[in-house]
Amino acid sequence: MDQCPFCKIVSREIPADIVYEDEFTLAFLDANPSAPGHTLVIPKRHLPTILDVDDETLKRVFQTVKKVTEMIKNALQPDGFNIGINHGEAAGQRVPHLHVHIIPRFNGDKGAMVQMVVRNPPTESLSVIREKIKSYAFEEDSEPEEIEEELEEYEEEKVKEEEKEGEEEKSENDEEEKLLEEMEKILKKMQVPR
Ligand code: 5GP
Ligand code: ZN
Repeated sequence: MDQCPFCKIVSREIPADIVYEDEFTLAFLDANPSAPGHTLVIPKRHLPTILDVDDETLKRVFQTVKKVTEMIKNALQPDGFNIGINHGEAAGQRVPHLHVHIIPRFNGDKGAMVQMVVRNPPTESLSVIREKIKSYAFEEDSEPEEIEEELEEYEEEKVKEEEKEGEEEKSENDEEEKLLEEMEKILKKMQVPR
């Protein structure tokens, strides 16, 4: 995008303090940092929000978030991080190119937690809200019952495998005992003192 500052950082039209780059993603220091090491991770392609990003790119973005968080942790030794996305203008997104903020936190820095960005408690009950959201679940997502069934099957398989392993071990021990008995007999016949 012509006007997007982050696309311009990707194409090197404007400078940035880049800390990490790969084929799909870029990480650079925020020009107006909230804390030392405040970094932004972006996909190289101009995509406004996570809802516009394909799963593979999203995976790459979050892999970079993890890598860069580790790099900052080693370099600056913060006590924690706030890692988040301002999604949409209402949530404070000013640059319409997906970016994940990594904000290092230090004990006593007087910052707040992500839940503090708004205090707007719902007027509806949680169960009403839950049902509204659940009605938009994607079909390919497994239902919790299905997941439970899969887990049960997995557990049963595991028990069976353990039983089989136990039996195999027992028959190995039996064979060893037989072998020892045979050897004892042979030794007796030969009258070799033990
Ligand atoms: P948003 O409010 O969209 O989540 O945050 C955008 C962030 O990008 C801000 O924290 C701002 O300081 C940072 N930012 C905006 N333009 C530039 C730029 O040209 N270079 C760098 N390094 N950061 C920028
Ligand atoms: Zn862009």
